[in-house]
Amino acid sequence: MRKLIAGNWKMNGNLAANEALLTAVRAGLAAEPAADVAVCVPAPYLAQVQGLCAGTPIAWGAQDVSAHEAGAYTGEVSAAMLRDFGCRFVIVGHSERRQYHGETDEVVARKAQRALACGITPIVCVGESEAQREQGDTEQVVKRQLAAVIHAVGHCVSEIVVAYEPVWAIGTGRTATPEQAQAVHAVLRAQLRAATPNERRVRILYGGSMNAGNAAALLAQPDIDGGLIGGASLKADDFLRIIAAAS
Ligand code: PEP
Repeated sequence: MRKLIAGNWKMNGNLAANEALLTAVRAGLAAEPAADVAVCVPAPYLAQVQGLCAGTPIAWGAQDVSAHEAGAYTGEVSAAMLRDFGCRFVIVGHSERRQYHGETDEVVARKAQRALACGITPIVCVGESEAQREQGDTEQVVKRQLAAVIHAVGHCVSEIVVAYEPVWAIGTGRTATPEQAQAVHAVLRAQLRAATPNERRVRILYGGSMNAGNAAALLAQPDIDGGLIGGASLKADDFLRIIAAAS
């Protein structure tokens, strides 16, 4: 399966820094990279990023989307608006949104539905906290999170991307070992297989302190189909080295 390396800039960047970063990534990428590449950027910069990435191998997307179609939802951004700016992807259910914005499995599932309805691929994040891992609940947690999305989107589940992001590994410098990550990816792969005959289309990314040094070992695992990259996607050299490791 062709791998996907997606950057999650989180709430970082400004007009000048975005231009410098994307110019450097563009310059360092092969004309036809062996992996798919995307950046998920703060919504106000979508027009800028569209201008810098259109016609290049770099796809772009957002980091969140409203669960509602349109209307009186002040501050929200709809999937149709993201589509207007050429988004191919949107992250839904990132642990920072589940944790700081109270997003439930059901809300995340509705967001995935809205994205799919507008032709945008949701990157559905699942992952356990450190306490849940210590209690032996990892499998149950990630399966519950993915089940809510499968239930909501039905046969369209073959159109999503899943990102396994253990909460304890995000932004901490503590990466899951390739074996720990592979074990969870295999569980998610089996769950997808039971949900759709087209499960081979679904890429399962690993996210959580992936960097230029550990990417190759993680990406060599049989069920790791790419990476969702936070901190390391803000440095062109690191991001390019991760892309090279996926090729
Ligand atoms: C993320 O926020 O999706 C992420 C994986 O962050 P980091 O790579 O910085 O751990």
